[in-house]
Formats: sequence, C-alpha cells, structure tokens
Amino acid sequence: MRLKFLGGADTVTGSRYLLSDDRHRLLVDCGMYQGVKNLRKRNWAPFPVEPSSINAVVLTHAHIDHTGYLPALVKNGFTGKIYCTKGTHDLCKVLLPDAAYLQEEDAKYAFRKKFSKHEKPEPLFTRKDAQKALEHFESVHYHETFEPVRGMEVHFTPAGHIIGSSCVHVHEKSSNRTIVFSGDVGRQDDVIMRAPEPISKADVLVCESTYGDRRHETSNPEQELEEIITRTAGRGGLTLLPAFAVGRAQMLLYLIHKLMSEKRIPKMPVYLNSPMAIRATEIFCRHHKEHKLSAQQCEFIDDKTTFVRTVDESIELNTVRYPCIIVSASGMASGGRVLHHLKTLLPNPRNSVVFAGFQAPGTRGDALVNGAESVKIHGEHWPVKAEIHNMSSLSAHGDYKEILAWLDQGQLDPGKVYITHGEPVAADVMRKRVRDQFGWDVEVAELFEEVEV
Ligand SMILES: [Zn+2]
Repeated sequence: MRLKFLGGADTVTGSRYLLSDDRHRLLVDCGMYQGVKNLRKRNWAPFPVEPSSINAVVLTHAHIDHTGYLPALVKNGFTGKIYCTKGTHDLCKVLLPDAAYLQEEDAKYAFRKKFSKHEKPEPLFTRKDAQKALEHFESVHYHETFEPVRGMEVHFTPAGHIIGSSCVHVHEKSSNRTIVFSGDVGRQDDVIMRAPEPISKADVLVCESTYGDRRHETSNPEQELEEIITRTAGRGGLTLLPAFAVGRAQMLLYLIHKLMSEKRIPKMPVYLNSPMAIRATEIFCRHHKEHKLSAQQCEFIDDKTTFVRTVDESIELNTVRYPCIIVSASGMASGGRVLHHLKTLLPNPRNSVVFAGFQAPGTRGDALVNGAESVKIHGEHWPVKAEIHNMSSLSAHGDYKEILAWLDQGQLDPGKVYITHGEPVAADVMRKRVRDQFGWDVEVAELFEEVEV
C-alpha cells in the first residue's frame, strides 16, 4: 500500500490522503483549504490525481476542511461511494450545501462590488454540485467493518471532536498491515463531547497536530466566560461569539445557559444566528449517545435560545443596542452572518468578541486575536475597538498533552508515524514530542510526498 499526502500537510486545512495499491485508490478525507489567499488558491488547482481514478472516499468527520472539496471532486468526475458515520452524513447534508451557498454568494458579491479580477467570478461549486455529491454518501456504524475497495477493510472509532467524528482504520488484507488516520482528535475532558476512544493497533499512524506546540490554558473557561459576559453587559455592550457552527456553537449555548440558570451572568436574550448552526444543534441533540448532554439539557438549550433563521431577522438583530449574547458562525470569522455583526460591533469599545477555537493564520479571527487595529470586511476596513478574546480552552482539539495521553492509552507500537494537520512549527514540535515520549519513528508529512506503508 502506498500513501500520498495530497493536502493537510504543511497546514491545518485541506486534509486529503490517498491510499493506493496496484489496482485501487482510496481517498481519506477530501477537504477544502481555508485561511490565507495562497492556501485558498489551492482549491482552484486541478485535483492532484484524476478524480475518476479514485474508487472510494472515506471521511474522518464533517468539517469543511475535511469534506468541502467533495462537490468539486464529483463535479470533476469522481463516481464512487463516500463512506462515513451517520453523524458525519447528517452534518454533511447541512455543511456541503451551505459551503456551496457561500461560494455562490461570494462570487455574486465579488461581481457586484467588482473586487474580483475575473470578469465574471465563478463559485468553486454550486448547491447542485453539493446535492450530487451527497447522493454518493453511504453511512456506516462505528466499529462496523466494510470494504470500500477490494482488499482494504475499514472501520471507524469515535474521535470525540464533533458528532460523527472518527479515526479511520484501514487494514490491507494481503499484507495484514493497518494504517490509522487520527482525523481531528477531541479533548480528554470536553464540556460536551466524550473523550476519543484509544487506538489499539496501528502499523502506521497519521496523526494531527493542530495544537502540537501549545497547551490550552488550564484556567476555568466557565469563569472566564462569566467574567467577560458580565463585564460587557455591565457597560451596556453585546457579546458576540463567532463559533464553529458544528460543535462549538452547541457547547457555547450550553455554557451560557448554564451560567444564566446559576445566576452567574445577568439574564439577557441569547441568539443563535446561523441557519447552519441551528440545524447542527438539531443534529447534535438527535445523536445524544455521542455527547455528554442529556435530552433535558438539549431541550433546555432549545427553549432558552432565540433561533435567528431568516435574513430579515438577522438584519433586525444587527440593530439591537441592549445587552445580549449572539452566537454566530463562522468560527474564524471568514464568512457568513457573523461578518455583518462584526461590522456593527467591532468599532464600539462597549462590545466583546469571543473566539472559541483554533484560528488559522490569515483568517480575520487570527488577525483579531492577534490585536489587529482594523480588519477588512466586504472590501472595507473596520476599526477594532471592542474587547477581543480567544478562549482556546474551549477548543474542540486536544492540545499536545491530551493527544500524547490518548496515544498512550492505546498501548500502540507503530513502526512509523506521520504528523499532519498542523502549521509547520506545531507539526515539528509534535514530531519531537511523540518521538521523545514513545521512541517511535516519527516524520512530519510533506505535501505530495508518497510513502510505502
Ligand atoms: Zn475538525
């Protein structure tokens, strides 16, 4: 079996790994690049292998940096099946059409405002392409073995990152070797998600390193959130939480309502302004076995939150001047309704903006948490006067210590480990840490490198 790193190497986005033997090609994840322009440009390059030559795709989880290129893959000739867990399938039904919608809107907006260098900017794919991609999906239970291509047996184990997230185990029958892709690995003690299941067997391991060089603050996130919201409301401001629609939005709503019911923050309206996050919340509540919240706790979130569904309601919400809390996608402030809120809220020092997860270099979120004095939104510069926070302790990724602890639980002894899904420094620090703790042969994967497994 050979493994080629088609993406997710040298950066955290664009995860795509190709496994092949003499007759078959199996693609693990098919993500879109996000972040700086140079990375996003890679989305427009022809796919590194002919899509029609790929026999099947398996997915670790639904996030767009792992699935967002699927509509383009199908559009460009892929005809096989896309295998994933039920949770990932449910989420992709929401995420892929939404990604397509954003593509279409961006193209339209760039055309109207004439800030594209193209005569008529085109979306990378349309909602129609996304629907077509969804027809290729087939869901599988955790731990259920299936054979997406002949000779390679696959099963998923829970990765604790978001609903449906999994580690992908691929067993080549002829060589009796197993390669495991960690996907994005969740926290050892997350507020809402269960801990990732330890991996017990891998000859080769492909491991993420988003927080390879960092630890999450050990401070109490509940208390930090309590202080920020209370302080902001006290000066008559609004608290905006740009959140990853899938996963972190649900966790934030849970924490906010918990704080409010314990009277630790003042009573005020809580809005969830993201149609995608609203649907992700419904899916979250349906897949109750995968997270820690009870049906009552889910119902509580549902009852106490005002869901902002229509564009008109969203525009209306932008005129609100009384203290309230708005949770809105996207988590790195790269697109969607949150941009309109940022334009209104950033210039006023009364308000607060709280990020809750990894901010990829080059995103507005990254600029804001690094103290930018202004940010560009819709072609214009907006001054940043609001209080900005990044609570990485609320991240859905384990930090390096948590990942090392997780690897340790499995009593693994892989012959080779490849580090992926990290910025170069994070990946290299992770490489050294894994090598030093376990004595394994560890390498940072390079883009387009092909290795024998
Ligand atoms: Zn993810």
